[in-house]
Amino acid sequence: MSISRFNAVEKASNRKAVEAVTPEHKVSEYYGENVFNRKAMQKYLSKETYKALTHAIDNGTPIDREIANHVAAGMRMWALEKGVTHYTHWFQPLTDGTAEKHDAFVEHDGNGGMIEEFSGKLLVQQEPDASSFPNGGLRNTFEARGYSAWDPSSPAFIVDDTLCIPTVFIAYTGEALDYKTPLIRSIEVLGEAAKDVYRYFDEDVNKIITYLGWEQEYFLVDEDLYSARPDLSLTERTLLGHESAKNQQLDDHYFGAIPSRVQEFMKDLETECYKLGIPVKTRHNEVAPNQFELAPIYEECNLANDHNQLLMSVMKRVSRRHNFRVLLHEKPFNGVNGSGKHCNWSMGTDKGVNLFSPGKDREDNLRFITFVVNTIMAVYKYNALLKASIASATNAHRLGANEAPPAIISTFLGTQISEILDKFENSSIEDAIEVDDKKGLHLGFGQIPELLLDNTDRNRTSPFAFTGNRFEFRAPGSSVNCGSAMLALNSAVAYQLQQFKKDVEALQAEGKSKEVAIFKVLKAYIKESKPIRFDGNGYSDEWKEEAAKRGLDCQNSVPLQYDAYLKPESIEMFTSTGVLTQKELEARNEVKWEVYIKKVQIEARVLGDLSLNHIIPVAVRYQSVLLDNIAKLKETFGDDPEFRDMSEEPRRLVRKIAGHICAVTKKVDEMVEARKKANRLTDMREKAIAYHDSVAPYLDEIRDHIDDLELMVDNQMWPLPKYRELLFIR
Ligand code: ADP
Ligand code: MG
Repeated sequence: MSISRFNAVEKASNRKAVEAVTPEHKVSEYYGENVFNRKAMQKYLSKETYKALTHAIDNGTPIDREIANHVAAGMRMWALEKGVTHYTHWFQPLTDGTAEKHDAFVEHDGNGGMIEEFSGKLLVQQEPDASSFPNGGLRNTFEARGYSAWDPSSPAFIVDDTLCIPTVFIAYTGEALDYKTPLIRSIEVLGEAAKDVYRYFDEDVNKIITYLGWEQEYFLVDEDLYSARPDLSLTERTLLGHESAKNQQLDDHYFGAIPSRVQEFMKDLETECYKLGIPVKTRHNEVAPNQFELAPIYEECNLANDHNQLLMSVMKRVSRRHNFRVLLHEKPFNGVNGSGKHCNWSMGTDKGVNLFSPGKDREDNLRFITFVVNTIMAVYKYNALLKASIASATNAHRLGANEAPPAIISTFLGTQISEILDKFENSSIEDAIEVDDKKGLHLGFGQIPELLLDNTDRNRTSPFAFTGNRFEFRAPGSSVNCGSAMLALNSAVAYQLQQFKKDVEALQAEGKSKEVAIFKVLKAYIKESKPIRFDGNGYSDEWKEEAAKRGLDCQNSVPLQYDAYLKPESIEMFTSTGVLTQKELEARNEVKWEVYIKKVQIEARVLGDLSLNHIIPVAVRYQSVLLDNIAKLKETFGDDPEFRDMSEEPRRLVRKIAGHICAVTKKVDEMVEARKKANRLTDMREKAIAYHDSVAPYLDEIRDHIDDLELMVDNQMWPLPKYRELLFIR
């Protein structure tokens, strides 16, 4: 139920901070207490089961049914002791967020009673009646047959009274219906490809691990103000609202203290995260008012992604306790910064060597350059695909819109690495490398300086920046599943590393030494991938022109950005790495287009309703007040020559308001017509394009008129909380 504006504003401004429930113990004592982690496994599983399970986790090997039965029994005992009554398979369908279906731990005992039951069969596989999850036609609704299967590499956890088991979600025909399945495939293939290349430099490696450290940005808004804004409640963004006179101009929020109401929320959130084993570490204000950020210590990519998914749902729950609503939408408010989810990405060996850290000796440095250059090369070749992997109706308001960075992928390396690559490119084999049997490899341009982590050498405008010992992919939106971007990046880099190995081998076959072959291939790659490197201001208009000249993908339309998934080179890359089949890619694109359509459709409906039922009636009412005033002025001063002057302002206002009322009414009608026309299209892609080209533009046009009206109509009459009321938590 929505409440009135002034009621909401009053409640919000009188709100006191709700004190956080902070445990008496140190974090180290309760960290992971709601996770079936190795400590719990050791306690609740037999030695053999523990060994078999951890071996499977560490090596990605299958688990047989007998072991699964033992694990299920241990898990159940652990959960029951914690008061848990239900369990669920927890998976990540192609919509936003996660899905779960809770079942009680009880079964008939055959004697009219009940027993607590949870077998290995239930742990390993389930059939959520999932016909309503988007599947792009892979699984028609008559069959509705998809199943979820246990992912032992991500530990089970407890939320409230429910044991949650991370699972993949697959159609009976074997196709992935989720993000997790292809993410795991991409991590595996990248691990193998990187290991093969790593062995050129160092034989001492068993496994390469992919890491992800996300930074989650979000907005908070008072619960009552949120309820008084149907657009926020239904679309998570304000579809109208004039900019506040003060917003982020002074940067005072970024540097300011965290408000106490928010501080208490953050404390509670962190406690919940620690119990769930999410290693959150930093919290701070962001640039826009009411905007904040939370970041954990980085973890293995699949686990980190599960933790981010889990965090988003925990945030929503905990925020309610503090009378807040958390907004994960990429652009809830026009005119202030949007929210992203920076994905810090790196690879490391099982011996703890970070592949993106320059090392102490020459071999390390060539290895470092090899992985950096191959990554840049992958980003270059697949820049359109990487953009498609983060494209959505909501993120589009952040990327490519007038006030945001453009929707163009480029990489920033910093002056030091750029100089090294330039030198590399321009050096000859003779002056760059001396292969000496005793001393090994010598890079002519000397050591790579240690100073790479220098913060001053950072470019905040780059969508894909090298930040010392990792790449930071900054284009993903705050509401997304990082899996989408990570699986595209992992696969592209894996494919590129495979190509690198082939190129090196080809030169070796011609009789070149390994070092010379590596040098030559890298040199060619550095030259080829140059267009993707950009160290200037990524937000400038000059860059848009320059990027187009360089042949980078500059497509601004989200439905057309998705085409990048189905280009022959993408299909080749995904199928040859085994991450996604052509059928899966096609089906997933259907889902993407459909989700795009629905998001715009809902926004169009909500804005239509708000225009006709909230805004126009109020504008008409205020117009009547003005007309009444003019009539009374005439009554009183009719013959006075000053009457014209006195009534000039109200008459001018009436005319303006009438103009806006007409425009809004007309445009809402046109928008409805545009929707009807688009809805007649049956091809998803065509329909999404129609929504983008002919429906979405009305959202901005209608809003402009309404935002002008907001400045004219009596403040007392305006029905919806204004930006200045929504945006400043005390
Ligand atoms: P900033 O805002 O300056 O980018 P933050 O501290 O907010 O820095 O976030 C940095 C993120 O990067 C954290 O999640 C951190 O764990 C992660 N990170 C640090 N080193 C690595 C690495 N080698 N691989 C992946 N992520 C990393
Ligand atoms: Mg960052």
